[in-house]
Amino acid sequence: MFLPQEIIRKKRDGGVLSKEEIQFFVKGITDNSVSEGQIAALAMAVFFNDMSMDERVAFTLAMRDSGEVLDWKSLNLPGPVMDKHSTGGVGDVVSLMLGPMIAACGGFVPMISGRGLGHTGGTLDKFDSIPGYSTVPTNDKFREVVKDVGVAIIGQTASLAPSDKRFYSIRDVTATVESVAMITGSILSKKLAAGLDVLAMDVKVGSGAFMPSYEKSVELAESIVKVGNGAGTLTSALLTDMNESLSPWAGNALEVRGAIDYLTGKFRPARLHEVTMALCAEMLVLGKLAASEAEARVKLQHALDSGEAAERFARMVKALGGPADLVENMDRHLERAPIVVPVPAPRAGYAASTVCREIGLAVVSLGGGRRRPTDAIDFAVGLTDLAELGQPLQAGQPLAMVHARTQAAAEQAVREVQAAYTIADAAPAANPIVYRTIRP
Ligand code: URA
Repeated sequence: MFLPQEIIRKKRDGGVLSKEEIQFFVKGITDNSVSEGQIAALAMAVFFNDMSMDERVAFTLAMRDSGEVLDWKSLNLPGPVMDKHSTGGVGDVVSLMLGPMIAACGGFVPMISGRGLGHTGGTLDKFDSIPGYSTVPTNDKFREVVKDVGVAIIGQTASLAPSDKRFYSIRDVTATVESVAMITGSILSKKLAAGLDVLAMDVKVGSGAFMPSYEKSVELAESIVKVGNGAGTLTSALLTDMNESLSPWAGNALEVRGAIDYLTGKFRPARLHEVTMALCAEMLVLGKLAASEAEARVKLQHALDSGEAAERFARMVKALGGPADLVENMDRHLERAPIVVPVPAPRAGYAASTVCREIGLAVVSLGGGRRRPTDAIDFAVGLTDLAELGQPLQAGQPLAMVHARTQAAAEQAVREVQAAYTIADAAPAANPIVYRTIRP
């Protein structure tokens, strides 16, 4: 017999909670037998006194088990069940290519994606820009597409890790989000509810990242790797750069267009390609679909160059209700914004840095992201042709193209993108693309 207040008191005083105490409290979060005040108090106690790795594993598993946990064993899939998760960024369109690439190499990817949060884009919103594509299929349909195509990218359902939904909404309004222990549990409970054998985590670093410093990003990556493996899913984390947009495109339908161009080989921007390949290769090695990173990269390049990955993407889109000819005829299906204007560079020099968060917020102010959770999104708007750091610029040369619904919105975005870039006389030292890989 446990009492919530005794569990809170123990954590308040720096104690270590048992698995049973954590299970009891998380059950109370799910069934409302623990009050909002008690949840807030425990969150604050954890914020100050932290959780050991054993506590984090118990917390993650309890939250995972608060709802449905997908089981793929009954399908007898001939390959591992795998996914990737990112802490969020700007122009991060990796999931759209990674899922089909992994499927083409023999993995099965049941990807349950989220909406955009703050300045970052969400994979779910990108797929919602494809007419007819259902991000909320029935469970049977989801399983059928994963089995037949090898990849299905859909949206979060209320039945997965419901305790996290309540817990997060309380953390959000009590200044207790910024705890590595609780972020680990929140992210992993949702991902592990998808029944994964393998998880690659992309923890972003830089001015557009969720974590505020390199050290904090490392701390989160190490925590996720320890807890993910402790909870029975082979987990690695890559620390990747988010000091600038990962791709030249930021905005929902614009990123879908970019992903299709990448898959068909029309245009593979180098930084995006490197992050995508590094994450995919890590997954193939963890899932024993490749013996080494080098072998994985050969397989992945073949999946791209043979057209197999593009075909998997096309089959997934069709199977989930989207246009059968999206890859061939994207202009017929993806909306374009009526106003497209350049962002002139205010002076000559080199693109030296961006406040990447501000680039993401420029997309939000164009209508491509939400200010409030209930806001509708304008899928057509956003930015393309974003100048890369280190690029030489003439005065007036475009830093980006703005895709806007109205002239006024375009003019505001031009000012915001100009303000987000620093142009210097000398080229900056290049940032690494992948800073570190943390393995089990
Ligand atoms: N994203 C999540 O899903 N949970 C957190 O706690 C933070 C970011």
